[in-house]
Amino acid sequence: EEWCVSMPKIELHAHLNGSIRLTTLLELAKALTENQKGAVNISQVEHVIMKHDLSLTEVFQLFDLIHNVITDHNTVTRITKEVIEDFASDNVVYLELRTTPKRNDSIGMSKRSYVDAVMEGLRSVSSVDVDFIPNTQDSTSLSNLPIITNENSRKIIIVRLILSIDRRETTEAAMETVKLALEMRHLGVVGIDLSGNPKTGEWTTYLPALKFAREQGLSVTLHCGEIRNSKEIKNMLEFHPQRIGHACFFEDEHWIKLKSSKIPVEICLTSNIRTFSVASIEVHHFACLYKAKHPLVLCTDDTGVFSTRLSKEYKLAANSFGLGRWEMLELSRNAVEYIFADNGVKNDLRIFFNSVANNME
Ligand code: 5GP
Repeated sequence: EEWCVSMPKIELHAHLNGSIRLTTLLELAKALTENQKGAVNISQVEHVIMKHDLSLTEVFQLFDLIHNVITDHNTVTRITKEVIEDFASDNVVYLELRTTPKRNDSIGMSKRSYVDAVMEGLRSVSSVDVDFIPNTQDSTSLSNLPIITNENSRKIIIVRLILSIDRRETTEAAMETVKLALEMRHLGVVGIDLSGNPKTGEWTTYLPALKFAREQGLSVTLHCGEIRNSKEIKNMLEFHPQRIGHACFFEDEHWIKLKSSKIPVEICLTSNIRTFSVASIEVHHFACLYKAKHPLVLCTDDTGVFSTRLSKEYKLAANSFGLGRWEMLELSRNAVEYIFADNGVKNDLRIFFNSVANNME
């Protein structure tokens, strides 16, 4: 196995539907009934997923396509199971998976039943052990984590969920998602994300729900600076979320504010390059933030849509910025400090990464 695959990794920015296996997406698209096909043009699906570079607008058209193909609870369960298996086989040991709870009255789907179907997917994984229910005590049911490195024993992946608010939603809909997250905390929901087309909607629409999430002790991560929008970036940084994603279109005043705030940044290299949010890897802000020792974590965003894996992102960063294995392990290990799970999980991961580091010396 290549070092980037065998190295244990932490994934904190992965959208469930964007991480769908392309083979599954095509299979589902082809299996639609004639009736359902009305909404989906199969050759268009094939064309779009084979395209190498998708503008941000095309990416959001693809998401609408994917959502049209996922027509029932069983499919939600299936793609969740496959996504967990794929991350585990790439040696992701801790995954925060995010997804937008969807309501679709025509198939009897509520936001709650959608997330229940995701939970069912976590339960149905059989190729690895999935830890997704938070421990009621502080103690360490995960103290056997180091067995991940033991070839003979089963792998473990720790999974927690983040519920996303789509920028198309109203304040009320956003609030419903936050309330759902609160109801499902004991099932491993740890935070709230704001995502969806950055050209849509206004910051003030989501703010009441995000404030409520914070008051109730949920962690918040925001897609921030995916397009040029100076005022929104400023407002988002002033909100001081626990993490932000992307940070592509920052101006000097935003960098200053970000660096002094120490808000960790979820970096999605391939996603940023493929959507033309950053002109080339050489000029990606990863380099400057890394040099400044700003808290960073490498993530995939959408493994299906961008044909990537976390190990590929690690390799790309190592090759592009001249970082060695040791530095890459440090990068992976530092992410433990930015996870949304409780201190019990954090401690287990710290102990685990210590032992991995000791074995590498
Ligand atoms: P889902 O939440 O349906 O499981 O995952 C797909 C959704 O995640 C998309 O419809 C979109 O709202 C969000 N998403 C995925 N990738 C991106 C991205 O790069 N930027 C933004 N702003 N949202 C994204």
